[in-house]
Amino acid sequence: LADFRFEKATWCPGCGDFSVLAALQQVCVRMGLEPEDVCCVSGIGCSGKISQHFGSYGFHTLHGRSLPTAQGIKMANQDLTVIAAGGDGDGYGIGMGHFIHACRRNVDITYIVMDNHIYGLTTGQASPTSKKGFKTKTSPTGVAEEPVKPLELAIVAGASFVAQAFSGELKQMQRIIEEGMKHKGFSLINVFSPCVTFNRVNTYEWFKENIVNLDEEEGYDKHNKAKALQRIGETDSVCTGILYQEDRPAFHEAVLGATDRGTVKLPLEIPQAEMQSLMDQFRR
Ligand code: SF4
Repeated sequence: LADFRFEKATWCPGCGDFSVLAALQQVCVRMGLEPEDVCCVSGIGCSGKISQHFGSYGFHTLHGRSLPTAQGIKMANQDLTVIAAGGDGDGYGIGMGHFIHACRRNVDITYIVMDNHIYGLTTGQASPTSKKGFKTKTSPTGVAEEPVKPLELAIVAGASFVAQAFSGELKQMQRIIEEGMKHKGFSLINVFSPCVTFNRVNTYEWFKENIVNLDEEEGYDKHNKAKALQRIGETDSVCTGILYQEDRPAFHEAVLGATDRGTVKLPLEIPQAEMQSLMDQFRR
């Protein structure tokens, strides 16, 4: 486990992101991965610091751009386990366009969104998942818009693995992250990760009182898309578990073939004539 601990995390004491980092570290150890087998790519926000705190390869990229970066890394090297991570503002605000296309593209990466319903790093503005009526610095009379619903959006956009976890339920989160990492294709794991400093409404206690655990619900079928959408809607999206999963070829299998390991696996020695031809084509 020590190998995956790079530096002391600097989040506020009690921040939900600590649990996500701990769960990810423990799952990597459980899966027998070494730090050099994994790359963690993050966007901007408090949760974006995870790529610095996590002891694997890391890439702290631009705001909202963790997904295109992570997909590029995976396509270049199929042997890396690639994790994209960030917050709700990063992923469902500026990064929303990338999110929809990542869902339908099905590149074999895991996307963990630490969803606290607020912008924490910039000290408390309404985010895309803030509930209607929530009072913040940018919504003093209450948020007027409906919140983004990432689970439903992901399923409708074509994601092949959609799950939700809660920082206050570490064991369930570990299981979900492990299943998401083992899933072949794009996996979204939205984690309710409370911001204890700026969100005094959606607290650990609030989530504990309101979450419906669909993993434990008798008869819930994660392979039935229509019923999953219906049941998630009935809980107002405040549910946890592996909510939807389907088996379909990952992007690299569909495009390159299952045996292609990516461009970094190509031999480094490119014959001079071939290189010249490539350069000529590039210049045209
Ligand atoms: Fe966590 Fe909120 Fe503190 Fe950011 S401001 S580290 S999200 S508790």
